[in-house]
Amino acid sequence: MILDTDFHSHVSRSSAQRMAQAAQEQGLRVLGLSEHVFQMNEAHPLLEHMGVEGPLLSFDTYIDAVRNAAEQQQLDVRLGLEVDFIPEKNEAIQSFLKGKPWDFLIGSVHEIDGVLFEHNHELNKTTGEARWLRYYQLLRAAVTSGYFDVISHPVRMRSANPYLPATLDAELEQLAAEATQHNVALEVNGYDTLTYPSVVRRLVKACALHHTPISVGSDAHIPARIAQAHQQTETLLRNAHINTVRIWKQRVPEEYTF
Ligand SMILES: [Zn+2]
Ligand SMILES: [Zn+2]
Repeated sequence: MILDTDFHSHVSRSSAQRMAQAAQEQGLRVLGLSEHVFQMNEAHPLLEHMGVEGPLLSFDTYIDAVRNAAEQQQLDVRLGLEVDFIPEKNEAIQSFLKGKPWDFLIGSVHEIDGVLFEHNHELNKTTGEARWLRYYQLLRAAVTSGYFDVISHPVRMRSANPYLPATLDAELEQLAAEATQHNVALEVNGYDTLTYPSVVRRLVKACALHHTPISVGSDAHIPARIAQAHQQTETLLRNAHINTVRIWKQRVPEEYTF
């Protein structure tokens, strides 16, 4: 079998329908849609600083669009959300999510103490290394928060911070160990895999060592990017002797071997 699921994808730049159609054309068996919480009307005022990636949706409109896409494409589409983890805002963010029929919730750290780290390049060795360490503190807090099924792109810091700390492998191992302990998956992210594969390889190695559940997601924002790195991801996982991927339905984990 091959990797035939994608559990991180966005709809705001196209639509749930077009993403599901592309997934079907790619031969995927299950598609997990996971729009950003900051793209939701109700939550946007709290997260205005994140910017927008397309027209805002209400939670109900989004949920309906995902259901309709599944029906029209006759595809197994799961309802997810990519949720920002920001310590001082978590309670307010989470209050919007209660009582909704999520299949999976992705926890994401995009912001570190007020800084959107993917857009900030003014770093040197000292501040860069310190930011990596703070990043892993926040990722571990996201793992242990109990809010999420999976933590996304746990090496995304590399996108704008080349100052890898000497202790990176130890940080990854600690994260992987805590994820296993809390039954939370770590994501092998398509964008990361295509952009800095050597760092993703270190993440995968830590997950293999600690038997951490793995989620695979492209992070596609347009239909053409669905499953964008699945071939490279499959190689990375096989080389680390990982052959199981975790997915979810109604927040209950399922696993398949590939
Ligand atoms: Zn993200
Ligand atoms: Zn994303």
